[in-house]
Amino acid sequence: MIRFESVVKQFGDNVVLDHLDFEMAAGDRVTLIGPSGSGKTTILRLLMTLERVNEGVIWVKGSPLSHERKGERLVPASEKHLRKVRRSIGMVFQHFNLFPNMNVMENLTEAPVHVLGRSKTAAQERARELLAMVGLSDKETAHPTQLSGGQQQRVAIARALAMDPDILLLDEVTSALDPELVADVLDVLRRIADTTDIPMLIVTHEMNFARDVSNRVLMFDRGRIVEEGTPQQIFTDPKEERTRKFLDAVI
Ligand code: ATP
Repeated sequence: MIRFESVVKQFGDNVVLDHLDFEMAAGDRVTLIGPSGSGKTTILRLLMTLERVNEGVIWVKGSPLSHERKGERLVPASEKHLRKVRRSIGMVFQHFNLFPNMNVMENLTEAPVHVLGRSKTAAQERARELLAMVGLSDKETAHPTQLSGGQQQRVAIARALAMDPDILLLDEVTSALDPELVADVLDVLRRIADTTDIPMLIVTHEMNFARDVSNRVLMFDRGRIVEEGTPQQIFTDPKEERTRKFLDAVI
């Protein structure tokens, strides 16, 4: 479903991902953990095509994301290719980035109508289903400024899903929220995990959430996977000293 094939990403001399190999199957819920600066967000940004690989190839559903085919060869992706593949990736960031001048319904239907070419009626119907899923059916006409941070983040989740993405990327989605708003957002994500089969790639410091939602946890350090396992294995019986130290510090 998603495959990183010997991916290298560097910023200047700083090698952030060092020949990373990593695969996700359909239905996988993978949480990335690891110290600050270990490259977790960079993985999400590469998938979102906000960054380009230096070496290696990223594949989504058997098609190259970081590259495009020219005859038999793979060449670095053009902007046009990136714009196209970007549609298939849903991402929710730490800072909910809703369109401030649009109400909730408009936020949810803008891209399905203008990018996917759906009819307004079909986009609104899907938006209503998603608003019900995130518990905000009564907020269709509200503007982002009239919503709490937690509600805005739930709209951002619904907006990502409105594009029917192949994968949902979640980058520290609760870390900018007041503590009392975190639980609602995590509950919504748990519900989505339970009721859909969309693959999720999650970066979070909420270890209980990671334990509930993911089937695989990958421990990163310095651009490499140092350990991987089920949440049960990683959280209760980590094999690597680096994982143990990291978990001692965050739990
Ligand atoms: P955190 O948990 O703090 O978010 P992370 O594991 O997500 O950390 P990344 O954000 O992926 O780490 O960053 C990995 C490394 O890449 C860091 O050393 C960071 O300084 C560097 N880096 C990330 N983006 C850029 C950029 N645009 N320009 C230069 N260096 C960058």
